[in-house]
Amino acid sequence: MKIIVANWKMNGGVDLADEFIEEINTITSPNTIVVCPPAVLISRFGNFSHRVGAQNCFCEENGAFTGENSPKLLKEAGCKYVILGHSERRSIFCEDDELIFKKWKAAVAQDLIPIVCIGEKIEDRDNWKETISRQLDFFLDDCPLGDTIFAYEPVWSIGTGLIPTEEKIETIFAFIKELLGDEAPLLYGGSVTSENAQRILACQNVDGFLVGGASLKIDEFKKIVAFGAVFNH
Ligand code: PEP
Repeated sequence: MKIIVANWKMNGGVDLADEFIEEINTITSPNTIVVCPPAVLISRFGNFSHRVGAQNCFCEENGAFTGENSPKLLKEAGCKYVILGHSERRSIFCEDDELIFKKWKAAVAQDLIPIVCIGEKIEDRDNWKETISRQLDFFLDDCPLGDTIFAYEPVWSIGTGLIPTEEKIETIFAFIKELLGDEAPLLYGGSVTSENAQRILACQNVDGFLVGGASLKIDEFKKIVAFGAVFNH
């Protein structure tokens, strides 16, 4: 079984949400399908027959944090998952590993399943081991990971059309699995399309995808989900 997560980022709208629900609801798949729309659209997914997630949450349940989204309220709004530490959160909103870990704790306390994003920037491409080890450090210290999902997303691959070679993906995934153990699912993210989905899913240890741009094109997303059903290693 693969996990295919759609990250709409700050895109989409009511019309796309309604069309997505209608189309994706027709899919019966052994895969876990999760859509993470912008927070203001989450309530629109009440009749979605798959899973809904948020793209971020704050590290507190409530309080004077204007503009933030509480993990408790996201849960109440129907989310089962929450993406944390996406590279856009790290770079544009200056989130560091410590804050991401606090958010992880707050999400787990609400029974949300965190999807924790890690991955190196272009300038760290040769030092990916250091970056990944640092980003995972908080999670390795006798920390029960529960249902936590991780997503390896090389920053230089997000939205660029550039993809690591299959050999590189297998090397990096083996390294991460060695750090985290076999239990935590590990997704690949970065320029996934129906053109490359098959060969990436065939890589050892790839448990699914975090899909950005291609998840906004419903036919494209359906094709990616269909590939997921073929690979069940
Ligand atoms: C993402 O935003 O997590 C992502 C992987 O984007 P894209 O698929 O567009 O590269």
